Amino acid sequence: ERLDELISGLTVDVPDHPEPGVLFRDLTPVFADGPAFRRVVEGLAAASASDPRAAALADSRAGERPFDVVVGVEARGFLLAAGVALHTGVGVVPVRKAGKLPRERIAADYALEYGTATLELHADSIRPGQRVLVVDDVLATGGTLAAAVTLVEQLGGVVSAVAVVVELSALAGRQRLAPHTVHALWTT
Ligand code: IMP
Repeated sequence: ERLDELISGLTVDVPDHPEPGVLFRDLTPVFADGPAFRRVVEGLAAASASDPRAAALADSRAGERPFDVVVGVEARGFLLAAGVALHTGVGVVPVRKAGKLPRERIAADYALEYGTATLELHADSIRPGQRVLVVDDVLATGGTLAAAVTLVEQLGGVVSAVAVVVELSALAGRQRLAPHTVHALWTT
């Protein structure tokens, strides 16, 4: 079965969540399905292999993995990032919502439909020059992932790819993340 069809078949559309007019894509049944979750993790892990920027980075360090660490965005991104990290044999670093990380941290604000939100990253969690795969479940407007990328780059990390399970293409989040390439396992 094609991976995009597997994902779309297991995703549950929830109308009017979290507010009227929003069609929420609930991916928790994808994560709950063992074979589907494994294929999703493998798909995300492979994302940077086809990224020209990441390939260029990997070329200069032949034979190595295309990334050194996986960053996951709270909260569903944690599930995915942990799987990808374990699958690849690298570590996992959380980007968290404001007020959760206990030590020295950097912050990035991003726009929500109403108001703003803040994401944070421990200041010592990425070393300069480390190649980072950034993952989340859904790319909507791209504000969340753009903030996560900003944090990684602020610490000197090199984003080798951005990978998501689902891209909601009508919201044009991909443009927002340029020049980074977004790898989506299912675009709808
Ligand atoms: P963005 O910042 O507008 O791209 O929204 C992406 C963030 O909101 C991600 O962290 C997603 O988990 C969450 N999100 C937005 N829309 C959906 C959805 O339809 N289903 C699940 N999560 C969503």
